[in-house]
Amino acid sequence: MIKYKLICKKCDNVFDSWFSSSREFDRLKKINLLICSKCNSYKIEKSLMSPQIIKQEKSKINENYEKKIKFLKNKMREYQKFIKNNFDYVGDNFTYEARSIHYNKKKSKGIYGKATVEDIENLKEEGIETQNIPWIEDKEN
Ligand SMILES: [Zn+2]
Repeated sequence: MIKYKLICKKCDNVFDSWFSSSREFDRLKKINLLICSKCNSYKIEKSLMSPQIIKQEKSKINENYEKKIKFLKNKMREYQKFIKNNFDYVGDNFTYEARSIHYNKKKSKGIYGKATVEDIENLKEEGIETQNIPWIEDKEN
């Protein structure tokens, strides 16, 4: 939704109106659906103030979005920290280690590492459950 400040060219009445897009304004104007609430004139124009208002609202949306991303990344880092502290890192040997735990009943506090989608599918077919988690590198902010 976009809020435009509209101005009536006939009586200078200024009022706010919401549109689903900037195109919708042009469309409604074309079929004379924009009418001044005071004098019923069709001479409605977008006020010059509108772009600024839109810009402000947009930057606020971006700000909220970035806050959300930051929050999620922090959550992921906490989760990664938990895994690092409680599981053994086996790197590229993940598939091998997972099998060896499963078939040799090897005792383990749990492992984590890298595996391809294909590897995970194969493990699943053999009855070895794994959990796929998104992983962010430490260098990322
Ligand atoms: Zn008017």
